[in-house]
Amino acid sequence: MNELIIEKLRSVLPADRSFIALHEPYFQGREWDYVKECIDTGWVSSVGKYVDLFEQKLAEHTEVAHAVAVANGTAALHICLQLVGVEAGDEVLMPTLTFVATANAISYCGAIPHLVDSEERTLGLDPHKLADYLAEIAEVRADGSYNRVTGRRIKAVVPMHTFGHAVDLDPLLDLCARYRLELVEDAAESLGSFYKGKHTGGFGRISALSFNGNKVVTTGGGGAIVTNDPELAKRAKHLTTTAKVPHRWEFNHDAIGYNYRMPNLNAALGCAQLEQLDAYVEQKRALAERYREAFADLAGVQFFTEPEFSRSNYWLNAILLDEQQAHLRDSLLEATNSAGIMTRPFWTGMHKLPMFADCPRMDLSVAESLERRTINIPSSVFLGG
Ligand SMILES: *Cc1c(COP(=O)(O)O)cnc(C)c1O
Repeated sequence: MNELIIEKLRSVLPADRSFIALHEPYFQGREWDYVKECIDTGWVSSVGKYVDLFEQKLAEHTEVAHAVAVANGTAALHICLQLVGVEAGDEVLMPTLTFVATANAISYCGAIPHLVDSEERTLGLDPHKLADYLAEIAEVRADGSYNRVTGRRIKAVVPMHTFGHAVDLDPLLDLCARYRLELVEDAAESLGSFYKGKHTGGFGRISALSFNGNKVVTTGGGGAIVTNDPELAKRAKHLTTTAKVPHRWEFNHDAIGYNYRMPNLNAALGCAQLEQLDAYVEQKRALAERYREAFADLAGVQFFTEPEFSRSNYWLNAILLDEQQAHLRDSLLEATNSAGIMTRPFWTGMHKLPMFADCPRMDLSVAESLERRTINIPSSVFLGG
């Protein structure tokens, strides 16, 4: 089996490389020009024209009214949660299968992650299973839903668009209305991905993006808060820039703010990257198509393709072993990495990490199965060129 899978991977990947990373950044545009301009003019830090330009271009790409650039995606999530009113002692629903940043950001608010199962169709949060679960445990009151078991308020839900595939948002939006939950999308992986024709990140009141080095486009490190609500956007900008009251020389602050600013240097890189986003997504989709064809006739393993309602950026490609083959996962990881083809398993479910082990959770059997069977395979933009 391992040999067959490596053969399939090799049929898609370039033959002239001894090592193929999982996801490399790609700089073929005007990155160097823009970054050099920052250095030449001295505008390298937290103000500068590229920050404004990056925010404007980002809002255009994601089809939302406002974008606020910040230091990283985790910081973006933290502020999104604070702005929708998540308070200490609240519970926040989130998938157990996600990068740890989602759960960390909830914890920064003093809130408690409440872990939700995934669905195989999207690899993201299962809104139907969540509906059945909430019917059992949640009681709707004027200021939100309450968990009958813990007595705590359930304030929000944070779906995550896994590997760039949109979760099924319509039934989730219904649930949010019924249970008075705020929807905050963790769209860190889904820049360039659409749900039923509309860009992800535009469904909740406020959403978070990431531009870490391994994401679809990168600013080195960075993130953004996107929203259609002008008041929330204003507060997001204020809180992430130390809550300073604007004045020509006085330093006054009117809240406990954060230094979550994105430096101009990073925004310059981001501006050049955004100019190439559409081309990147096309290349990533072309790569995914080649993988799909390569794996089409191999029994026991399936290349993961976008759900019918998603037009995905294919940020990270994934293959899923059948349950009967799941025991081969670790030997396959060993064999591919030894062969110079970087692969990795799904994230470890949050419920298995020591700091979140005691968090409330529903049945997580699908997530556990997906974790046992999923392997990410090389996904860099240039591989699709
Ligand atoms: C990348 C990522 C983030 C944010 O990560 P940063 O490194 O803080 O930018 C958040 N959630 C998910 C699911 C991610 O993949």
